[in-house]
Amino acid sequence: MREPLTLQQAIVYFSDPERIFEYAKQLRWPDGKVVCPRCGSDKNSFVKTRRLWFCYGCQKQFTIKVKTIFEDSAITLDKWMTAIWMLVNCKNGVSSYEIHRAIGVTQKTAWFMLQRIRTALKDTFPHTKIGGGSGSTLEADETFVGGKLQNMHADRRKTIEQKGPRANKTIVFGILDRDLRQVRAKVVPDLKRELLQNEILNQVKHGSTIYTDSAVGYDKLHYRFVHDVVNHTERYVNGQVHTQGIENFWSLLKRTLSGTYVAVEPFHLSRYVDEQVFRFNNRKDKNDGDRFRLAMSQVLGKRLTYSELTGKSDSPHHAETGTGTEQVPF
Ligand SMILES: [Zn+2]
Repeated sequence: MREPLTLQQAIVYFSDPERIFEYAKQLRWPDGKVVCPRCGSDKNSFVKTRRLWFCYGCQKQFTIKVKTIFEDSAITLDKWMTAIWMLVNCKNGVSSYEIHRAIGVTQKTAWFMLQRIRTALKDTFPHTKIGGGSGSTLEADETFVGGKLQNMHADRRKTIEQKGPRANKTIVFGILDRDLRQVRAKVVPDLKRELLQNEILNQVKHGSTIYTDSAVGYDKLHYRFVHDVVNHTERYVNGQVHTQGIENFWSLLKRTLSGTYVAVEPFHLSRYVDEQVFRFNNRKDKNDGDRFRLAMSQVLGKRLTYSELTGKSDSPHHAETGTGTEQVPF
């Protein structure tokens, strides 16, 4: 059976537990050599009836889920894979309510699953730089997310009105490589020069051309880069000098946040940014199956526990099915 290209094919393909197991195994150990995720030993025996291995190195059992985003989850892999397929291929994201309806888990469980999947989507590019140096062009910009005053309690609204319109917002900083059409974006605590400069220095090859607005945080970039500024109080585009590309990414992000997820707490925002970056960077030259396989290849070595996510210890991962009557944000 060929690898799936559509959601419908994916559901059929992964409905066979043996096939899904082989698929996950092949992604995890492409050379076929099964290595213990805990101690690294390759001496083990496979318990076929339970689809797990016994490691002779550390004398413990391990499953395909150990040290992945699926670890400790009672949700079966077919449901996980359907959720991943939907999240990476729905242009504006997919809400926990939609996942709850589609795969028959509670909305709370679906919400937790989606947060774990976002953890996997987080790109692992801290060691590679964008921008090809001389001749390549990038845009850097920041945006303010969240904190709609009309949804807020009167007291809180009053405080924010006193502190200024941006007091309740979360800052997201981003860089677009125009040639590669790749974005890197993350939540940042402030817009101080040191922070913005370091972000750009760490991520962009020296000598590249960078366009920004005239915010002071960017005013020393010309030491390492070709830096041109568009002063947004005067105009938004000055020939090639503009930040419309990264602003287009901001509007996609905000459309997803307000349309699909309704309200995202600042604490969780970075994961939604990672999700949007993944879809944006993989939208061209890839089909739905490619995006899915790429996401699946990133589930290793990443974990997000329920207590990390919420500060609570009552993990919902045993509640595999349910009515989903409990209200969960987005
Ligand atoms: Zn071991």
